[in-house]
Order: sequence, then structure tokens, then C-alpha cells
Amino acid sequence: MANVRISYHTCPLCEATCGLEIRSRGREVTGIRGDADDVFSRGFICPKAYALKELDADPDRLRTPLIRRDGALAPATWDEAFAEIDARLTPILREHGRDALAVYLGNPSAHSLALSIYNQVFLRALGSKNMYSASTVDQMPKQVAVGLMFGTALSTPVPDLDRTDYLLILGANPFVSNGSLMTAPDAPGRIGAIRQRGGTVVVTDPCRTRTAAEATEHHFIRPGTDALFLFGIVHTLFAERLVRLGRLAAHTAGVEQVQSLARDFAPETVAARCGIGADVIRRLARELARAERAAVYARIGTCTQAFGTLASWLVDVINVLTGHLDQPGGAMFTRPGAGSPHTRGTPGRGKGVRFGRRHSRVRQLPEVYGELPCACLAEEIETPGAGQVRALITIAGNPVLSTPNGARLERALERLDFMVSLDIYLNETTRHADVILPGLSPLEQSHCDVLLRQLAIRNVVTYSPPVFDPPPGQQPEWQTLLRLTGIVTCQGWAADVTALDDFVTLQRVQQEVSAPASPIYGRDPEDILAALAPRRGPERQIDLLLRTGPYGDAFGGKPGGLTLAALEAQPHGIDLGPLEPRIPEVLRTPSGKIELAPEPLMADVARLRGQLVQPTDGLVMIGRRDLRSNNSWMHNLPALMKGKPRCTMLIHPADAARVRVADGEVARVSSRAGTLDVPVEVTDTIMPGVVSIPHGWGHGLPGVQLRIAGAQAGVNSNLLADELALDPLSGNAVLCGIPVQVERAA
Ligand code: SF4
Repeated sequence: MANVRISYHTCPLCEATCGLEIRSRGREVTGIRGDADDVFSRGFICPKAYALKELDADPDRLRTPLIRRDGALAPATWDEAFAEIDARLTPILREHGRDALAVYLGNPSAHSLALSIYNQVFLRALGSKNMYSASTVDQMPKQVAVGLMFGTALSTPVPDLDRTDYLLILGANPFVSNGSLMTAPDAPGRIGAIRQRGGTVVVTDPCRTRTAAEATEHHFIRPGTDALFLFGIVHTLFAERLVRLGRLAAHTAGVEQVQSLARDFAPETVAARCGIGADVIRRLARELARAERAAVYARIGTCTQAFGTLASWLVDVINVLTGHLDQPGGAMFTRPGAGSPHTRGTPGRGKGVRFGRRHSRVRQLPEVYGELPCACLAEEIETPGAGQVRALITIAGNPVLSTPNGARLERALERLDFMVSLDIYLNETTRHADVILPGLSPLEQSHCDVLLRQLAIRNVVTYSPPVFDPPPGQQPEWQTLLRLTGIVTCQGWAADVTALDDFVTLQRVQQEVSAPASPIYGRDPEDILAALAPRRGPERQIDLLLRTGPYGDAFGGKPGGLTLAALEAQPHGIDLGPLEPRIPEVLRTPSGKIELAPEPLMADVARLRGQLVQPTDGLVMIGRRDLRSNNSWMHNLPALMKGKPRCTMLIHPADAARVRVADGEVARVSSRAGTLDVPVEVTDTIMPGVVSIPHGWGHGLPGVQLRIAGAQAGVNSNLLADELALDPLSGNAVLCGIPVQVERAA
């Protein structure tokens, strides 16, 4: 019998990036627990991590490519699959141009080292404007706001949880989500510790979530009104002379414009619309201003709404005006080991961000960071004419369940000339594909979190080798993406992956040595490539990132600096220390200042003013998170599906009485986009006037191979989400505050 082996691996399932200790015997996982020596998570894990064992062994997980033959998906070899893609995709690109192929990246793309690096290689090679991702149903408003204020899409201040005394949380439930745009293993413990050391945690949310229940105080807020509430705080800060920029004063532009705009949003003006009293708004403003160490943090509920970018902007306006931005215990910028757009280029100055360089064909929606809103994908497929999307590649995504009006998108997918999916499951979206290329188990892949550690509350870097070798003949995802790259660059389905990877690496090295701000500027590319040898694939890329990053060895230029080899010798990670003040060095705006009043945001405030006179009657729908769900893709794991069904609609007792539905009955919920029937849970944890249905459900459709998920299918809440309702600045879908009608199902 094989010996028990112990491996250490960073959990790739959510943004918390906890360290795992994985025991295995042969190819079987025998146990998973938190890695007590992990420098960041110190042994913390959540129930999802245990389910990695089931995910790894899931009999429904795809392990061989599938090709549609005579209407049915059938197993095929890798060569057959790539030859099929080449034969069907290349003529489409040749005849209709590169925009005829759209790409959708799902959320797990951001949690995979291979995908996060090689997706970009593939997308650059393709050059289609039809690029879509889960970002426009999630966090794009925050990325737009911070890009305009600080200069890059990832210039996101994160709350310094371990040192703050006062935390105002809006629209986030880190006790359940484990944190988002805030990488913090054991977020519940860290937030709980704020109260234990005498601090204050305030939560505003339309639902009394677990985080709200654990807070010092919770206030219901009407969905979609966070920007009004935050403007009420900004108004108070100016009106009561509480603005203290401190050392930020020399680095901040636009304070007067913000002051001028805030005049229209007195707490008494916004209170009725938000559902939070003017006295509370004023008190919170004073408490924030007077706290020595305080931060405002907001997440999904403030992003997935019609004023998502304004709300995201106002969060950091308050952090600046109270002098808490870039201060220990406030909202700070990470300095990650593998670098970030805000550690590269010229410190303290940059190109800033530009949007709208291209527009969608049908609705003329602007691109943001190279992406179009995923809410317009269906119409781009449906609408005939030059530039029509005729083919689609989905990568680790399930947009039928994750994006607005999933029913319309499903109908559109049926009209495609060709569809490819790179995925581990035959799910509600990939069932429409003509070719499915299976991904690997997370335990068969190395991991180094290049993206999420850019948002960490501490500077930490970790590398994990694969726990298991991939099965013989299985294609690693980075090689799959390079083979797709070979196809879209007309090199054929059998293009030499090694040569392609060498070419990609050479390009990256040449960029580095020709960038004046790079630590290897002017060096001979051949020397750098020789130092990276014999590594290939993601390991070679991550070594390059680490060595040219802020702590890197600069290929001998900074002896003792960070390398992948040094990281491999530290399986529990390397702690690079607490966050430190970085302004002005972190800024990449053209002015070199914090732009507190960017023009696109200023112009959008008039739309917000119009919101003040909107009626507040009628029911609106929001989503919700569950600790054991991870969007749509972990419902096939028995350990996470135990217990009572959780795809229910929460409704307040007063509303339930008014629409005559009782606890346990089934309600019919309708919106402009669709109708569904869902079991009812009557509870006073939800605000009157609001109902909540979680997203990521609606399994059990024909052709899907998710047997456990199908047995507790739930309903697809995105059938109700309106693909026409967007935050105009970011293109983010409105998923929080969808107007609905509710009645008892017949
Ligand atoms: S909190 Fe997230 S990263 Fe940590 S164990 Fe759970 S799923 Fe994994």
C-alpha cells in the first residue's frame, strides 16, 4: 500500500487563498485540513476546501474531450478535438473577421495560475473586440472607479483589517463569502477581532446577513441607494468641517468639485430613499471622521446596481476625505510579490485609464478594460449584419446561469455556427458546445495567486506545485490555450506548443528589458531567458514576474531577492510584511495625483440626482451568498449539498402577508425579463420591500452531466435579471434591486 504523502497547496476556490495541508495515498486524497504554518491563513479553512477531495474524484468531471456528432456530444481524442476546432473555426474567422468569435471568461479563470496567464496570450492573439467575462456581473464598477482615481484597474484599496478600529461595510457578507476584492483568509475571525479589541463594525445591507448579525450595528438599506447614502456622509463631512486629508492633501485633486456636488445630498434629502435615518448618516460620518483608524469597504451589492461606479467611487472618496486612505488601519494598497500594474512603470505617474475605445455593435455600449458588458452577448449573437458574433469560446464559465436573462442567452447559443468550451463540467452552458475541452482538477495544477494577492490585506506570496500529476495524455490548460492560439493565428491545430510558449516568453522578456522603469532594463534578453531555463509554461512566467517584481532579485541585480526557486523552498509561503503607505509612489494617473473628481463620474451624478425623486414602492430582488456555494460550479459535490434546500426566496412577513404567500409555499416571481417559481422562506432578516434569491442555481436541464446538482436543481435567478439594465459607466449588470412582482404560484 502506498505511503501517505503530505502536500501543501493554496486553495484556489475563493479569494481568501487559504493554505491547505492535503494528505494523499497514491492518487487518492485521504484528508484535507488547514495548513497551520501557512504564513497568511494560519490553519483557517472553510467547508468548501474539504470538498476539493470530492471535486478531484467527481465522476461527472470531464476527463476527455467531447465533440458533437449527429447532435450528441461524444468522446474524442485531443487531436480530433483541435482538428475539429480548426476545421470549423478557421473558415468563420477567414470569412467574417476576428470579431465573429466571442470569448467569455468565467470567474474560475481568475483563480487559476495557468488560465490567468495564458487566457491573456490567447485573447491578444485573437484580437476580437467581443471579449466578455464575469467581471461585468461582479466587480467592474470598482475597477472603473479605482482606475479613474488612482490609475489602474487593480489600484484597489483594501481595508487593513488587522489594524483598523472602525469598519463600515456596505453590501458585502465576508462571514459567508470569505471576502472579495479583499483577500483575507479568516475574514470572519479578523472582522470579529475588531470588536474584540474594542472597535466598531457597522454594516449596511438590505439583508441581516451573518456579517450584519456579528456587527456592532446593522442598518437595512434599500437596494441601489448606496451612492445616495455615501453622498449623505460626504455632505456631512464637508458641512461639519470634518474633512481631514492630512498628508494626502498634497497628492489629491478635485476636492472642491466633490464638495460642490455633495451639497445636493444632505442626509435629510437622501434618508427616505435609502431607508436610513438622517441622524444615523450624520453620526456615522462623525464616527468615521473621528476614528483614528477607520476604513469603508463595499462589495457586490454596491457593484451590481445601476449606480455601481458612483457607489464604488464614493467609498474611496470617504476614505480620502477622512484621511484614512493609505494609512495603517485604513484602506491601503497591497504591494504584491508578483507585481501589479501599480508596481510597474513610473512610480507616482502613469497613463491612467481610458474607456470606450470600441463599442458593442448593437447597443453601442463602450468597452471597459477591453471588455464588453456580458449583458449584451445575446444580442450580438442574435442580430444579423456585419460584425455579428457567429462563434463563441467559453473558458471556465457558465453564463447561462451567471449572466442576466439566461433564457435569452440560451436561445442565442443555439444560433451560433460553432461553440467551444474549456471546462471541467458539462453544464447548463457547455451543453450547447460543439467541442468541449476538459480542464484539470485543481489538484493537478500548480498555483501561485498572481491576481488575488494583489488585493491582499498583507503582502504575502505562495507557490504550490501540483498535488498530483495530470493523467497521462491529459492536456494542461496552458497548453490547451496555446493550441487555440495556434489555431486563431492560422498555424493550424498541431502548432508546436513549445515553440509558441518560447515565443510568448521571448516577447515578455523583450518588453521588460526595453522598459526604462523595469529592474532589468537594458539587459540582454538571451541572458534572462537562460536564467529562466529550463522552466516552461506557467512556472517560467511566474518566475519572470517574481524576479522583476517589487521584491525580485532582478536576475542578479538585487542579490537575495525573490525568485520562484526561493518560493519553492518555502511551502507555507513567504510573508512580505504588513501593508505600508504607498502614496504617491502607487499612483499611475497622468497627473500623479489622486483624482477625486474624475470627469465621467462627475457627469453621472446628475443621473443619481434623478434617483432622489423615484418612488420606493414595489418589490425589488437581490441575490445572496451561501458559504457552501461558489457561484454555479460547486453544486455537484455531496459535502456541499447536505442540509435543507437553500435556493429559496426570502421575503419579509409584511410583504408575504400582502402578496398572500406563506412560509414553505411556492411563489411565482416575475420581472421584465422572465418568470420563475421558487419556494418561499418568510423571515424578518430581509428588509420590507425586498426579496432575495441566490444565483448560480437552475441545474437539471437536459443534457447536463451534474447528477448531484440536478437532484437539488433550484431556480436560475438570472432568468429575472434584465439584460437591458446596466450601470452605464462600467457596463455592469443590475442584479441588485431588480423590480419584481410576487404572487402565490397556482
Ligand atoms: S475560505 Fe476560500 S480559500 Fe479558504 S478554504 Fe474556503 S474556499 Fe478555500
